[in-house]
This record gives sequence, C-alpha cells and structure tokens, in this order.
Amino acid sequence: MNIQFSQDQKQTVYLSLKILEMLSLMKVQLFTVGRLSTNCYVVSCLETAEAIVIDPGFEAAFEAEKVTEYISATSLKVKFIVNTHGHVDHIGGNRILKIEYAVPICIHEYDAKCLTDYGNNLSPSNILLKGGNTLEFGRIVLKVMHTPGHTPGSVSLINRGVVFTGDTLFAGGIGRTDFLGGSYSDMKTSLLRLMDLPYTYVIYPGHGLVSTIGKEKRTNAFLF
Ligand SMILES: [Zn+2]
Ligand SMILES: [Zn+2]
Repeated sequence: MNIQFSQDQKQTVYLSLKILEMLSLMKVQLFTVGRLSTNCYVVSCLETAEAIVIDPGFEAAFEAEKVTEYISATSLKVKFIVNTHGHVDHIGGNRILKIEYAVPICIHEYDAKCLTDYGNNLSPSNILLKGGNTLEFGRIVLKVMHTPGHTPGSVSLINRGVVFTGDTLFAGGIGRTDFLGGSYSDMKTSLLRLMDLPYTYVIYPGHGLVSTIGKEKRTNAFLF
C-alpha cells in the first residue's frame, strides 16, 4: 500500500514526533505544597539527570523534605530554582533550596523585588529573566514567555509540547488581576499569546489540575 502524505500532514507527523521525543526526555514531578495548594514541579532531563525546581512554595519543613528526598532518591542535579512569579505561595521555599543546592534563583525582573519584600526568610534573585530568555538543563530548553497580568513579572515556561503557566492560566480558570501590580488588560494579552500555542500542548498550572491548550480553548469560560 502506498500512502501519500500532504506537506501539512508531514509537518503534523514531524511535530508530533518531536513532541514525543521532548516529552520522553523530560520528566515532570508534581508536589502540591502550602495552604493554597501550590503546584511545585521538579522538571528533569532523563538523559542527564539535570533538573530545575519550579515554584517551591513550601510552608512546612516536611514539604521541602519531600522534594529534596525525591531529588536525592532519583540522583538529580538541580541547576536552577525558578519562580513563575513573586507571590509568596510560589517563592516561600527558595531559601531552603538555595541553601541545599547553591544554585541560582530565577525570576522575571519585574517581580524580583518580591524576593526581598516579605521579610528575612527569602533569598534575593540571582538571574533576572526577560521574555525570550531560555533556561537550559540537560537536553531540555525552556523558553521564557513574559505573561504579565496576575503580576507584572509573571512568566510562562515553554518547551515543545508543554507550558508551565504559573498563576496566569489554570484548568477552567485564569489568575486574579486584583492584587498589587495586576492588570486585566495585560492578562488578556498574555492569555491570547498562550492560546496561540498548539492545541496539544500540556498545561502545568500554578494550582489545580493539568490540562491542555485545546481543552482550555474549548471549555474555559474565562477565555471566551
Ligand atoms: Zn500568584
Ligand atoms: Zn499562586
């Protein structure tokens, strides 16, 4: 049997394979932490064991221990601590991880002051992110998309097939814009940019369930 593929179909197949390749290289481990049930992710490269920790919003020592025990049990080498934005439910464990791993803390430049605003239990940032920057660990490259609205320095982190959206986009919801520095018009622009991602992209939000761009486009009432 001779199957002919159109150029579009070939492109779709190629992209699907690329996504599978990237997904198979990247492991995402979720820890739900703090009173606000923040999603803290340990994202690792299966080939090199290099990893990052996204949004360690720990409130209790046992939460930090769960994460550090996972990291040592899987022999991961932490390369960065990354905050999707500067709210305390996403940054509360920065200091404890910084002491443990001595790696840079990365946050968008517009939210960096949050890391020193909340008293002395936090560590200042070491790498100030801008939209278009990349975070590389092992063979994984996460691209930083500046998605302000929830806070001025909110970012989403994008790899082929995957997007970490922080408190910008949730399964069935969007982030609040009524906190200090929030902006509904910025939020609308940010959401439109996220909705430009392919349908198949998996969303790992800052709280709640995992979703996909396609599902949110079809079902998220805040996006219509
Ligand atoms: Zn927040
Ligand atoms: Zn949050």
